[in-house]
Amino acid sequence: MVATEATTDPEVLVIGAGPGGYVAAIRAAQRGLDVTLVERDALGGVCLNRGCIPSKAYVTATDVAHDAATAEEMGIHADPVVDLAAMCDWKDGVVDRLTGGVEKLCKANGVTLVEGTASFVDGETVRVDDGDETDTLSFDHCIVATGSRPLELPGFPFAADPVLDAAAALELSSVPDRLVVVGAGYIGMELSTVFAKLGTDVTIVEALDSVLPGYEDDVARVVRKRAESLGVDFHFGERATGWRDAADGGIVVTTESDDGTESTHGADRVLVAVGRTPVTDALDPENAGLEPTENGALETDERCETAVDGIYAVGDVAGEPMLAHVASAEGVVAAEAIAGEPAAFDAQAIPAAVFTDPEIATVGLTESEAEAEGFDPVVGEMPLRSSGRALTTGDTEGFVRVVASADGFLIGAQIVAPEASELIAEPTLGIEMGATLEDVAATIHTHPTLSEAVMEAAENALGQAIHTLNR
Ligand code: FAD
Ligand code: NAD
Repeated sequence: MVATEATTDPEVLVIGAGPGGYVAAIRAAQRGLDVTLVERDALGGVCLNRGCIPSKAYVTATDVAHDAATAEEMGIHADPVVDLAAMCDWKDGVVDRLTGGVEKLCKANGVTLVEGTASFVDGETVRVDDGDETDTLSFDHCIVATGSRPLELPGFPFAADPVLDAAAALELSSVPDRLVVVGAGYIGMELSTVFAKLGTDVTIVEALDSVLPGYEDDVARVVRKRAESLGVDFHFGERATGWRDAADGGIVVTTESDDGTESTHGADRVLVAVGRTPVTDALDPENAGLEPTENGALETDERCETAVDGIYAVGDVAGEPMLAHVASAEGVVAAEAIAGEPAAFDAQAIPAAVFTDPEIATVGLTESEAEAEGFDPVVGEMPLRSSGRALTTGDTEGFVRVVASADGFLIGAQIVAPEASELIAEPTLGIEMGATLEDVAATIHTHPTLSEAVMEAAENALGQAIHTLNR
Protein backbone atom coordinates (compact mmCIF):
# COMPACT_ATOMS: atom_id res chain seq x y z
CA MET A 1 0.00 0.00 0.00
CA VAL A 2 1.06 3.58 -0.48
CA ALA A 3 1.84 6.19 2.13
CA THR A 4 -1.18 8.10 3.35
CA GLU A 5 -1.66 11.41 1.57
CA ALA A 6 -2.73 14.60 3.34
CA THR A 7 -6.50 14.67 3.19
CA THR A 8 -9.47 16.79 4.08
CA ASP A 9 -13.07 15.70 4.46
CA PRO A 10 -14.03 14.33 1.02
CA GLU A 11 -17.26 14.54 -0.97
CA VAL A 12 -16.93 10.82 -1.67
CA LEU A 13 -15.21 8.39 0.68
CA VAL A 14 -14.55 4.94 -0.77
CA ILE A 15 -13.69 2.10 1.63
CA GLY A 16 -11.71 -0.74 0.04
CA ALA A 17 -9.48 -0.55 -3.04
CA GLY A 18 -10.44 -3.76 -4.86
CA PRO A 19 -11.97 -3.71 -8.36
CA GLY A 20 -15.17 -2.32 -6.86
CA GLY A 21 -13.59 0.45 -4.80
CA TYR A 22 -10.75 1.71 -6.98
CA VAL A 23 -12.95 1.80 -10.08
CA ALA A 24 -15.66 3.68 -8.16
CA ALA A 25 -13.06 6.15 -6.83
CA ILE A 26 -11.60 6.84 -10.28
CA ARG A 27 -15.02 7.27 -11.91
CA ALA A 28 -16.18 9.62 -9.12
CA ALA A 29 -12.98 11.66 -9.55
CA GLN A 30 -13.52 11.71 -13.33
CA ARG A 31 -16.90 13.29 -12.60
CA GLY A 32 -15.18 16.12 -10.75
CA LEU A 33 -15.89 14.92 -7.22
CA ASP A 34 -13.36 15.16 -4.40
CA VAL A 35 -12.58 11.51 -3.57
CA THR A 36 -10.65 9.72 -0.83
CA LEU A 37 -9.97 5.98 -1.08
CA VAL A 38 -9.15 4.10 2.14
CA GLU A 39 -7.43 0.71 1.99
CA ARG A 40 -6.05 -1.31 4.89
CA ASP A 41 -4.00 -3.76 2.89
CA ALA A 42 -2.94 -3.65 -0.77
CA LEU A 43 -4.37 -1.65 -3.67
CA GLY A 44 -6.25 -3.94 -6.05
CA GLY A 45 -7.95 -5.97 -3.31
CA VAL A 46 -8.41 -9.73 -3.46
CA CYS A 47 -8.74 -9.69 -7.24
CA LEU A 48 -5.28 -8.35 -8.04
CA ASN A 49 -3.38 -9.65 -5.00
CA ARG A 50 -4.87 -13.02 -4.05
CA GLY A 51 -7.60 -13.90 -6.53
CA CYS A 52 -8.28 -13.42 -10.23
CA ILE A 53 -4.84 -12.32 -11.36
CA PRO A 54 -2.55 -14.70 -9.42
CA SER A 55 -4.83 -17.65 -10.09
CA LYS A 56 -5.00 -16.90 -13.82
CA ALA A 57 -1.22 -16.44 -13.93
CA TYR A 58 -0.92 -19.98 -12.56
CA VAL A 59 -3.63 -21.30 -14.89
CA THR A 60 -1.62 -20.00 -17.85
CA ALA A 61 1.80 -21.08 -16.60
CA THR A 62 0.68 -24.61 -15.79
CA ASP A 63 -1.09 -24.81 -19.17
CA VAL A 64 2.19 -23.95 -20.87
CA ALA A 65 4.01 -26.70 -18.97
CA HIS A 66 1.27 -29.26 -19.47
CA ASP A 67 0.73 -28.46 -23.15
CA ALA A 68 4.46 -28.72 -23.84
CA ALA A 69 4.60 -32.08 -22.05
CA THR A 70 1.65 -33.52 -23.97
CA ALA A 71 2.24 -32.32 -27.52
CA GLU A 72 3.79 -35.48 -28.99
CA GLU A 73 0.90 -35.76 -31.44
CA MET A 74 1.96 -32.38 -32.82
CA GLY A 75 5.52 -33.62 -33.14
CA ILE A 76 6.76 -31.82 -30.06
CA HIS A 77 8.75 -33.81 -27.52
CA ALA A 78 9.49 -31.91 -24.34
CA ASP A 79 9.87 -32.68 -20.68
CA PRO A 80 9.40 -29.32 -18.93
CA VAL A 81 10.79 -28.85 -15.44
CA VAL A 82 8.62 -26.60 -13.30
CA ASP A 83 10.29 -24.41 -10.69
CA LEU A 84 7.29 -23.43 -8.56
CA ALA A 85 9.21 -20.81 -6.59
CA ALA A 86 10.23 -19.09 -9.86
CA MET A 87 6.67 -19.38 -11.15
CA CYS A 88 5.48 -17.74 -7.92
CA ASP A 89 8.03 -14.90 -8.40
CA TRP A 90 6.81 -14.34 -11.96
CA LYS A 91 3.20 -14.26 -10.75
CA ASP A 92 4.17 -11.76 -8.03
CA GLY A 93 5.78 -9.57 -10.70
CA VAL A 94 2.53 -9.54 -12.67
CA VAL A 95 0.63 -8.58 -9.51
CA ASP A 96 3.12 -5.80 -8.68
CA ARG A 97 2.82 -4.28 -12.15
CA LEU A 98 -0.95 -4.21 -11.87
CA THR A 99 -1.16 -2.86 -8.31
CA GLY A 100 1.43 -0.22 -9.22
CA GLY A 101 -0.77 0.68 -12.18
CA VAL A 102 -3.79 1.12 -9.90
CA GLU A 103 -1.82 3.49 -7.69
CA LYS A 104 -0.71 5.57 -10.69
CA LEU A 105 -4.24 5.68 -12.12
CA CYS A 106 -5.72 6.76 -8.79
CA LYS A 107 -3.17 9.53 -8.40
CA ALA A 108 -3.43 10.67 -12.01
CA ASN A 109 -7.18 11.00 -11.56
CA GLY A 110 -6.78 13.01 -8.36
CA VAL A 111 -7.96 10.34 -5.92
CA THR A 112 -6.49 10.81 -2.42
CA LEU A 113 -5.15 7.51 -1.05
CA VAL A 114 -5.29 6.79 2.66
CA GLU A 115 -3.86 3.69 4.34
CA GLY A 116 -5.78 2.25 7.27
CA THR A 117 -8.86 0.42 8.46
CA ALA A 118 -12.07 2.42 8.18
CA SER A 119 -14.94 2.04 10.63
CA PHE A 120 -18.14 4.04 10.82
CA VAL A 121 -18.58 6.49 13.67
CA ASP A 122 -22.02 7.45 12.34
CA GLY A 123 -23.76 7.88 8.97
CA GLU A 124 -21.51 10.80 7.99
CA THR A 125 -18.16 10.01 9.58
CA VAL A 126 -15.55 7.25 9.59
CA ARG A 127 -12.54 6.66 11.78
CA VAL A 128 -9.41 5.49 9.96
CA ASP A 129 -6.84 3.56 11.99
CA ASP A 130 -3.45 2.89 10.39
CA GLY A 131 -2.05 1.08 13.41
CA ASP A 132 -0.19 4.11 14.74
CA GLU A 133 -2.82 6.79 14.79
CA THR A 134 -6.47 7.35 14.02
CA ASP A 135 -7.99 10.05 11.89
CA THR A 136 -11.63 11.03 11.53
CA LEU A 137 -13.09 11.86 8.11
CA SER A 138 -16.54 13.23 7.34
CA PHE A 139 -18.10 12.49 3.97
CA ASP A 140 -21.08 13.55 1.88
CA HIS A 141 -21.29 10.13 0.22
CA CYS A 142 -19.64 6.83 1.07
CA ILE A 143 -19.08 3.78 -1.13
CA VAL A 144 -18.43 0.60 0.85
CA ALA A 145 -16.34 -1.85 -1.20
CA THR A 146 -14.84 -4.04 1.52
CA GLY A 147 -15.07 -7.30 -0.42
CA SER A 148 -15.23 -10.83 0.92
CA ARG A 149 -13.10 -13.51 2.54
CA PRO A 150 -13.14 -17.31 2.32
CA LEU A 151 -15.67 -19.19 4.41
CA GLU A 152 -13.99 -21.24 7.11
CA LEU A 153 -15.33 -24.76 7.39
CA PRO A 154 -15.81 -26.22 10.90
CA GLY A 155 -12.89 -28.55 11.54
CA PHE A 156 -10.63 -26.77 9.02
CA PRO A 157 -9.25 -23.59 10.61
CA PHE A 158 -7.11 -21.75 8.05
CA ALA A 159 -4.59 -21.09 10.81
CA ALA A 160 -3.68 -24.80 10.87
CA ASP A 161 -0.63 -25.47 8.70
CA PRO A 162 -1.92 -28.12 6.27
CA VAL A 163 -5.19 -26.22 5.68
CA LEU A 164 -5.00 -23.80 2.76
CA ASP A 165 -7.32 -21.15 1.44
CA ALA A 166 -6.90 -20.11 -2.19
CA ALA A 167 -4.48 -17.32 -1.27
CA ALA A 168 -2.20 -19.71 0.62
CA ALA A 169 -2.38 -22.28 -2.19
CA LEU A 170 -1.14 -19.58 -4.58
CA GLU A 171 1.88 -18.91 -2.35
CA LEU A 172 3.18 -22.48 -1.97
CA SER A 173 6.89 -22.73 -2.75
CA SER A 174 6.85 -26.45 -3.50
CA VAL A 175 4.36 -28.69 -5.22
CA PRO A 176 2.44 -30.93 -2.79
CA ASP A 177 2.45 -34.63 -3.72
CA ARG A 178 -1.16 -35.07 -2.61
CA LEU A 179 -3.84 -32.42 -2.24
CA VAL A 180 -7.41 -32.82 -1.06
CA VAL A 181 -9.64 -30.03 -2.33
CA VAL A 182 -12.89 -29.42 -0.49
CA GLY A 183 -15.49 -27.95 -2.86
CA ALA A 184 -15.77 -28.38 -6.64
CA GLY A 185 -16.87 -24.77 -7.23
CA TYR A 186 -14.99 -22.01 -9.04
CA ILE A 187 -11.85 -22.09 -6.91
CA GLY A 188 -11.82 -25.85 -6.36
CA MET A 189 -12.04 -26.58 -10.09
CA GLU A 190 -9.58 -23.90 -11.23
CA LEU A 191 -6.91 -24.72 -8.66
CA SER A 192 -7.38 -28.50 -8.96
CA THR A 193 -6.58 -28.11 -12.63
CA VAL A 194 -3.49 -26.05 -11.79
CA PHE A 195 -2.17 -28.56 -9.25
CA ALA A 196 -3.05 -31.60 -11.37
CA LYS A 197 -0.99 -30.06 -14.19
CA LEU A 198 1.88 -29.57 -11.73
CA GLY A 199 1.82 -33.30 -11.02
CA THR A 200 -0.05 -33.29 -7.69
CA ASP A 201 -2.43 -36.18 -6.97
CA VAL A 202 -5.65 -34.22 -6.48
CA THR A 203 -8.72 -35.57 -4.70
CA ILE A 204 -11.86 -33.42 -4.68
CA VAL A 205 -14.62 -33.92 -2.15
CA GLU A 206 -17.84 -32.13 -3.06
CA ALA A 207 -21.02 -32.12 -0.96
CA LEU A 208 -23.32 -32.04 -3.98
CA ASP A 209 -23.47 -34.46 -6.90
CA SER A 210 -21.55 -32.63 -9.60
CA VAL A 211 -18.78 -30.16 -10.27
CA LEU A 212 -19.67 -26.48 -10.50
CA PRO A 213 -23.19 -26.79 -9.07
CA GLY A 214 -25.51 -24.40 -10.87
CA TYR A 215 -23.99 -24.99 -14.30
CA GLU A 216 -25.89 -27.18 -16.76
CA ASP A 217 -24.98 -30.88 -16.77
CA ASP A 218 -23.50 -30.95 -20.28
CA VAL A 219 -21.39 -27.88 -19.50
CA ALA A 220 -20.00 -29.29 -16.25
CA ARG A 221 -19.50 -32.77 -17.73
CA VAL A 222 -16.85 -31.65 -20.23
CA VAL A 223 -14.77 -30.03 -17.51
CA ARG A 224 -15.17 -32.93 -15.08
CA LYS A 225 -14.08 -35.44 -17.73
CA ARG A 226 -11.02 -33.37 -18.62
CA ALA A 227 -10.12 -33.04 -14.94
CA GLU A 228 -10.49 -36.83 -14.56
CA SER A 229 -8.19 -37.33 -17.52
CA LEU A 230 -5.64 -35.16 -15.67
CA GLY A 231 -5.92 -37.62 -12.77
CA VAL A 232 -8.30 -35.70 -10.51
CA ASP A 233 -10.23 -38.10 -8.30
CA PHE A 234 -13.79 -36.91 -7.56
CA HIS A 235 -15.89 -37.88 -4.56
CA PHE A 236 -19.39 -36.45 -4.82
CA GLY A 237 -22.00 -36.39 -2.08
CA GLU A 238 -19.29 -36.13 0.62
CA ARG A 239 -19.07 -33.30 3.15
CA ALA A 240 -15.65 -32.71 4.65
CA THR A 241 -15.83 -33.04 8.43
CA GLY A 242 -12.23 -32.72 9.64
CA TRP A 243 -8.62 -33.80 9.32
CA ARG A 244 -6.01 -35.51 11.46
CA ASP A 245 -2.32 -36.29 11.24
CA ALA A 246 -1.49 -39.57 9.52
CA ALA A 247 1.23 -42.08 10.38
CA ASP A 248 2.93 -41.46 7.01
CA GLY A 249 3.69 -37.84 7.92
CA GLY A 250 0.76 -36.51 5.90
CA ILE A 251 -2.84 -35.96 6.93
CA VAL A 252 -6.15 -37.76 6.57
CA VAL A 253 -9.23 -35.77 5.58
CA THR A 254 -12.50 -37.23 6.82
CA THR A 255 -15.83 -36.87 5.05
CA GLU A 256 -19.41 -37.91 5.63
CA SER A 257 -22.10 -38.63 3.05
CA ASP A 258 -25.83 -38.04 3.46
CA ASP A 259 -26.44 -41.64 4.55
CA GLY A 260 -23.84 -41.23 7.29
CA THR A 261 -21.05 -43.17 5.56
CA GLU A 262 -17.63 -41.90 6.61
CA SER A 263 -14.68 -41.86 4.22
CA THR A 264 -11.04 -40.89 4.52
CA HIS A 265 -8.66 -39.36 1.98
CA GLY A 266 -4.89 -39.14 2.45
CA ALA A 267 -3.11 -35.89 1.59
CA ASP A 268 -0.22 -33.56 2.40
CA ARG A 269 -2.38 -30.47 2.27
CA VAL A 270 -6.08 -29.64 2.12
CA LEU A 271 -7.44 -26.69 0.16
CA VAL A 272 -10.82 -25.50 1.44
CA ALA A 273 -12.88 -23.60 -1.14
CA VAL A 274 -16.49 -23.71 0.00
CA GLY A 275 -17.55 -20.15 -0.82
CA ARG A 276 -16.88 -16.61 0.34
CA THR A 277 -18.57 -14.28 2.81
CA PRO A 278 -18.84 -10.46 2.79
CA VAL A 279 -16.41 -8.50 4.97
CA THR A 280 -18.08 -5.98 7.28
CA ASP A 281 -16.30 -6.67 10.56
CA ALA A 282 -14.05 -3.78 11.58
CA LEU A 283 -16.44 -1.55 9.63
CA ASP A 284 -18.95 -1.13 12.50
CA PRO A 285 -21.77 -0.83 9.94
CA GLU A 286 -24.42 -0.54 12.66
CA ASN A 287 -22.98 2.83 13.73
CA ALA A 288 -24.07 4.17 10.34
CA GLY A 289 -27.48 2.47 10.56
CA LEU A 290 -26.48 -0.30 8.11
CA GLU A 291 -27.93 -3.75 8.79
CA PRO A 292 -26.11 -6.58 7.02
CA THR A 293 -28.32 -9.49 5.87
CA GLU A 294 -28.09 -12.93 7.46
CA ASN A 295 -25.29 -13.69 4.97
CA GLY A 296 -23.41 -10.57 6.02
CA ALA A 297 -24.09 -8.63 2.80
CA LEU A 298 -25.11 -4.99 2.50
CA GLU A 299 -28.28 -4.89 0.40
CA THR A 300 -28.59 -2.18 -2.23
CA ASP A 301 -31.04 -0.88 -4.83
CA GLU A 302 -30.33 -0.66 -8.58
CA ARG A 303 -28.28 2.52 -7.96
CA CYS A 304 -26.13 0.49 -5.54
CA GLU A 305 -27.36 2.62 -2.62
CA THR A 306 -28.02 0.97 0.74
CA ALA A 307 -31.05 1.68 2.91
CA VAL A 308 -29.02 4.54 4.45
CA ASP A 309 -29.13 7.72 2.35
CA GLY A 310 -25.76 8.55 0.82
CA ILE A 311 -24.11 5.20 1.66
CA TYR A 312 -23.56 2.85 -1.26
CA ALA A 313 -22.17 -0.70 -1.38
CA VAL A 314 -20.52 -2.38 -4.36
CA GLY A 315 -18.81 -5.67 -5.12
CA ASP A 316 -18.60 -8.78 -2.95
CA VAL A 317 -19.78 -6.94 0.17
CA ALA A 318 -23.10 -6.37 -1.64
CA GLY A 319 -23.52 -10.15 -2.10
CA GLU A 320 -23.72 -12.56 -5.06
CA PRO A 321 -22.54 -12.82 -7.74
CA MET A 322 -19.07 -12.27 -6.30
CA LEU A 323 -17.19 -11.45 -9.49
CA ALA A 324 -14.61 -8.75 -10.13
CA HIS A 325 -16.30 -7.33 -13.23
CA VAL A 326 -19.59 -7.09 -11.33
CA ALA A 327 -17.79 -5.19 -8.56
CA SER A 328 -16.34 -2.75 -11.12
CA ALA A 329 -19.65 -2.31 -12.95
CA GLU A 330 -21.37 -1.57 -9.63
CA GLY A 331 -18.57 0.83 -8.70
CA VAL A 332 -19.20 2.80 -11.89
CA VAL A 333 -22.95 2.90 -11.20
CA ALA A 334 -22.48 4.10 -7.61
CA ALA A 335 -20.04 6.83 -8.65
CA GLU A 336 -22.26 8.05 -11.48
CA ALA A 337 -25.36 7.96 -9.26
CA ILE A 338 -23.52 10.11 -6.70
CA ALA A 339 -22.57 12.48 -9.53
CA GLY A 340 -26.28 12.91 -10.21
CA GLU A 341 -26.45 10.80 -13.35
CA PRO A 342 -29.32 8.40 -14.11
CA ALA A 343 -27.10 5.32 -13.63
CA ALA A 344 -28.56 1.92 -12.73
CA PHE A 345 -27.12 -1.58 -12.54
CA ASP A 346 -28.56 -3.90 -15.18
CA ALA A 347 -28.18 -7.60 -14.36
CA GLN A 348 -29.45 -8.81 -17.75
CA ALA A 349 -26.06 -9.51 -19.29
CA ILE A 350 -23.54 -10.47 -16.60
CA PRO A 351 -20.96 -12.86 -18.03
CA ALA A 352 -19.19 -15.42 -15.85
CA ALA A 353 -16.18 -17.54 -16.71
CA VAL A 354 -14.52 -20.51 -15.04
CA PHE A 355 -10.87 -20.82 -16.03
CA THR A 356 -10.79 -24.59 -16.12
CA ASP A 357 -9.57 -26.77 -18.99
CA PRO A 358 -11.45 -26.13 -21.19
CA GLU A 359 -12.89 -22.86 -19.98
CA ILE A 360 -16.59 -22.33 -19.32
CA ALA A 361 -18.28 -19.01 -19.93
CA THR A 362 -21.93 -18.10 -19.74
CA VAL A 363 -24.15 -15.07 -20.00
CA GLY A 364 -27.88 -14.46 -19.70
CA LEU A 365 -30.35 -17.32 -19.62
CA THR A 366 -29.98 -21.04 -20.22
CA GLU A 367 -32.67 -22.81 -22.23
CA SER A 368 -34.41 -24.07 -19.08
CA GLU A 369 -34.16 -20.69 -17.35
CA ALA A 370 -35.66 -19.07 -20.46
CA GLU A 371 -38.53 -21.59 -20.39
CA ALA A 372 -39.09 -20.92 -16.69
CA GLU A 373 -39.27 -17.19 -17.45
CA GLY A 374 -42.00 -17.77 -20.03
CA PHE A 375 -39.92 -17.48 -23.20
CA ASP A 376 -40.43 -20.07 -25.91
CA PRO A 377 -36.68 -20.22 -26.55
CA VAL A 378 -34.92 -21.01 -29.80
CA VAL A 379 -31.56 -22.73 -29.27
CA GLY A 380 -28.60 -23.23 -31.60
CA GLU A 381 -25.38 -25.11 -31.00
CA MET A 382 -22.03 -25.57 -32.67
CA PRO A 383 -19.87 -28.44 -31.40
CA LEU A 384 -16.16 -27.65 -31.28
CA ARG A 385 -15.31 -30.85 -33.14
CA SER A 386 -16.79 -29.15 -36.23
CA SER A 387 -14.62 -26.04 -35.84
CA GLY A 388 -11.49 -25.90 -37.98
CA ARG A 389 -9.69 -23.68 -35.51
CA ALA A 390 -10.57 -25.96 -32.60
CA LEU A 391 -9.00 -28.87 -34.48
CA THR A 392 -5.79 -26.87 -34.96
CA THR A 393 -5.62 -26.21 -31.20
CA GLY A 394 -5.99 -29.92 -30.48
CA ASP A 395 -8.98 -29.10 -28.25
CA THR A 396 -12.28 -30.30 -29.65
CA GLU A 397 -14.32 -31.07 -26.53
CA GLY A 398 -17.00 -28.48 -25.97
CA PHE A 399 -19.53 -26.33 -27.75
CA VAL A 400 -21.04 -22.91 -28.21
CA ARG A 401 -24.75 -22.64 -27.50
CA VAL A 402 -26.90 -19.58 -28.01
CA VAL A 403 -30.41 -19.07 -26.63
CA ALA A 404 -32.84 -16.62 -28.21
CA SER A 405 -36.42 -15.57 -27.64
CA ALA A 406 -39.04 -16.89 -30.09
CA ASP A 407 -38.72 -13.63 -32.06
CA GLY A 408 -34.99 -14.13 -32.39
CA PHE A 409 -33.49 -11.81 -29.76
CA LEU A 410 -30.34 -13.18 -28.13
CA ILE A 411 -31.02 -13.84 -24.41
CA GLY A 412 -28.25 -16.24 -23.39
CA ALA A 413 -25.15 -18.19 -24.31
CA GLN A 414 -23.15 -21.06 -22.82
CA ILE A 415 -19.67 -21.78 -24.09
CA VAL A 416 -17.30 -24.62 -23.19
CA ALA A 417 -14.12 -24.08 -25.16
CA PRO A 418 -10.55 -22.82 -25.03
CA GLU A 419 -10.77 -19.03 -24.59
CA ALA A 420 -14.47 -19.26 -23.69
CA SER A 421 -13.83 -16.33 -21.32
CA GLU A 422 -12.94 -14.22 -24.39
CA LEU A 423 -15.62 -15.67 -26.70
CA ILE A 424 -18.42 -14.78 -24.29
CA ALA A 425 -17.84 -11.06 -24.96
CA GLU A 426 -19.63 -11.31 -28.30
CA PRO A 427 -22.94 -12.74 -27.02
CA THR A 428 -22.69 -10.42 -24.00
CA LEU A 429 -22.47 -7.40 -26.30
CA GLY A 430 -25.25 -8.93 -28.39
CA ILE A 431 -27.61 -9.18 -25.42
CA GLU A 432 -26.64 -5.70 -24.21
CA MET A 433 -27.40 -4.21 -27.64
CA GLY A 434 -30.57 -6.20 -28.31
CA ALA A 435 -28.99 -8.18 -31.16
CA THR A 436 -30.92 -10.89 -32.97
CA LEU A 437 -29.71 -14.29 -34.15
CA GLU A 438 -29.64 -12.81 -37.65
CA ASP A 439 -27.33 -10.00 -36.51
CA VAL A 440 -24.84 -12.56 -35.16
CA ALA A 441 -25.23 -14.89 -38.14
CA ALA A 442 -24.78 -12.05 -40.64
CA THR A 443 -21.63 -10.74 -38.93
CA ILE A 444 -18.55 -11.80 -40.88
CA HIS A 445 -16.18 -13.57 -38.48
CA THR A 446 -12.47 -14.02 -39.11
CA HIS A 447 -11.41 -17.47 -40.31
CA PRO A 448 -10.12 -19.67 -38.83
CA THR A 449 -11.21 -18.66 -35.34
CA LEU A 450 -13.10 -20.13 -32.44
CA SER A 451 -15.42 -17.12 -32.66
CA GLU A 452 -16.83 -18.53 -35.89
CA ALA A 453 -18.53 -21.09 -33.63
CA VAL A 454 -20.64 -18.28 -32.13
CA MET A 455 -21.80 -17.33 -35.63
CA GLU A 456 -22.44 -20.99 -36.51
CA ALA A 457 -24.45 -21.51 -33.32
CA ALA A 458 -26.65 -18.54 -34.28
CA GLU A 459 -26.98 -19.95 -37.81
CA ASN A 460 -27.86 -23.33 -36.31
CA ALA A 461 -30.67 -21.72 -34.28
CA LEU A 462 -31.96 -20.26 -37.55
CA GLY A 463 -31.64 -23.65 -39.29
CA GLN A 464 -28.93 -22.25 -41.58
CA ALA A 465 -25.64 -23.61 -40.23
CA ILE A 466 -23.10 -24.66 -42.85
CA HIS A 467 -20.54 -26.58 -40.77
CA THR A 468 -22.85 -28.50 -38.45
CA LEU A 469 -26.11 -30.31 -39.09
CA ASN A 470 -29.15 -28.16 -38.47
CA ARG A 471 -31.66 -29.16 -35.83
P1 FAD B 1 -12.03 -7.08 -2.84
O1 FAD B 1 -11.26 -7.34 -4.06
O2 FAD B 1 -12.14 -8.15 -1.81
O3 FAD B 1 -11.39 -5.78 -2.17
C1 FAD B 1 -11.86 -5.29 -0.95
C2 FAD B 1 -10.78 -4.46 -0.32
O4 FAD B 1 -11.31 -3.80 0.83
C3 FAD B 1 -9.58 -5.29 0.19
O5 FAD B 1 -8.40 -4.79 -0.39
C4 FAD B 1 -9.60 -5.09 1.70
O6 FAD B 1 -8.31 -5.04 2.26
C5 FAD B 1 -10.31 -3.74 1.85
N1 FAD B 1 -11.00 -3.56 3.13
C6 FAD B 1 -11.87 -4.40 3.74
N2 FAD B 1 -12.35 -3.85 4.88
C7 FAD B 1 -11.75 -2.63 5.00
C8 FAD B 1 -11.84 -1.58 5.95
N3 FAD B 1 -12.67 -1.66 7.01
N4 FAD B 1 -11.08 -0.48 5.76
C9 FAD B 1 -10.24 -0.37 4.69
N5 FAD B 1 -10.14 -1.33 3.73
C10 FAD B 1 -10.89 -2.44 3.89
N6 FAD B 1 -13.63 -12.96 -10.03
C11 FAD B 1 -13.71 -12.85 -11.37
O7 FAD B 1 -14.54 -12.08 -11.88
N7 FAD B 1 -12.88 -13.57 -12.18
C12 FAD B 1 -11.96 -14.42 -11.69
O8 FAD B 1 -11.22 -15.05 -12.45
C13 FAD B 1 -11.86 -14.55 -10.29
N8 FAD B 1 -10.95 -15.38 -9.74
C14 FAD B 1 -10.84 -15.47 -8.39
C15 FAD B 1 -9.90 -16.34 -7.87
C16 FAD B 1 -9.77 -16.47 -6.50
C17 FAD B 1 -8.73 -17.42 -5.95
C18 FAD B 1 -10.59 -15.69 -5.64
C19 FAD B 1 -10.43 -15.79 -4.15
C20 FAD B 1 -11.54 -14.83 -6.15
C21 FAD B 1 -11.68 -14.71 -7.54
N9 FAD B 1 -12.63 -13.87 -8.12
C22 FAD B 1 -12.73 -13.78 -9.47
C23 FAD B 1 -13.52 -13.04 -7.29
C24 FAD B 1 -12.97 -11.60 -7.20
O9 FAD B 1 -11.67 -11.64 -6.64
C25 FAD B 1 -13.89 -10.75 -6.34
O10 FAD B 1 -15.22 -10.82 -6.84
C26 FAD B 1 -13.43 -9.31 -6.35
O11 FAD B 1 -12.13 -9.19 -5.82
C27 FAD B 1 -14.39 -8.44 -5.54
O12 FAD B 1 -13.94 -7.12 -5.58
P2 FAD B 1 -14.31 -6.12 -4.39
O13 FAD B 1 -13.76 -4.79 -4.81
O14 FAD B 1 -15.73 -6.22 -4.06
O15 FAD B 1 -13.53 -6.65 -3.12
P1 NAD C 1 -18.23 -21.83 -4.78
O1 NAD C 1 -19.47 -21.33 -4.18
O2 NAD C 1 -17.97 -21.57 -6.23
O3 NAD C 1 -18.11 -23.41 -4.58
C1 NAD C 1 -18.14 -23.98 -3.30
C2 NAD C 1 -18.39 -25.47 -3.43
O4 NAD C 1 -18.13 -26.07 -2.17
C3 NAD C 1 -19.81 -25.81 -3.81
O5 NAD C 1 -19.79 -26.69 -4.91
C4 NAD C 1 -20.37 -26.46 -2.55
O6 NAD C 1 -21.36 -27.43 -2.83
C5 NAD C 1 -19.12 -27.06 -1.95
N1 NAD C 1 -19.18 -27.32 -0.49
C6 NAD C 1 -19.66 -26.50 0.47
N2 NAD C 1 -19.47 -27.05 1.70
C7 NAD C 1 -18.85 -28.24 1.51
C8 NAD C 1 -18.36 -29.26 2.39
N3 NAD C 1 -18.50 -29.19 3.71
N4 NAD C 1 -17.75 -30.34 1.86
C9 NAD C 1 -17.63 -30.45 0.50
N5 NAD C 1 -18.07 -29.51 -0.37
C10 NAD C 1 -18.65 -28.41 0.12
O7 NAD C 1 -17.06 -21.21 -3.87
P2 NAD C 1 -15.50 -21.01 -4.13
O8 NAD C 1 -14.98 -22.00 -5.11
O9 NAD C 1 -14.91 -20.95 -2.78
O10 NAD C 1 -15.43 -19.58 -4.78
C11 NAD C 1 -15.96 -18.45 -4.09
C12 NAD C 1 -16.41 -17.41 -5.03
O11 NAD C 1 -15.28 -16.72 -5.58
C13 NAD C 1 -17.16 -17.92 -6.25
O12 NAD C 1 -18.51 -18.18 -5.97
C14 NAD C 1 -17.00 -16.77 -7.21
O13 NAD C 1 -17.95 -15.79 -6.88
C15 NAD C 1 -15.60 -16.27 -6.88
N6 NAD C 1 -14.62 -16.83 -7.86
C16 NAD C 1 -14.79 -16.57 -9.18
C17 NAD C 1 -13.90 -17.08 -10.09
C18 NAD C 1 -14.11 -16.77 -11.55
O14 NAD C 1 -14.88 -15.88 -11.85
N7 NAD C 1 -13.45 -17.48 -12.47
C19 NAD C 1 -12.83 -17.86 -9.68
C20 NAD C 1 -12.68 -18.11 -8.32
C21 NAD C 1 -13.58 -17.58 -7.41
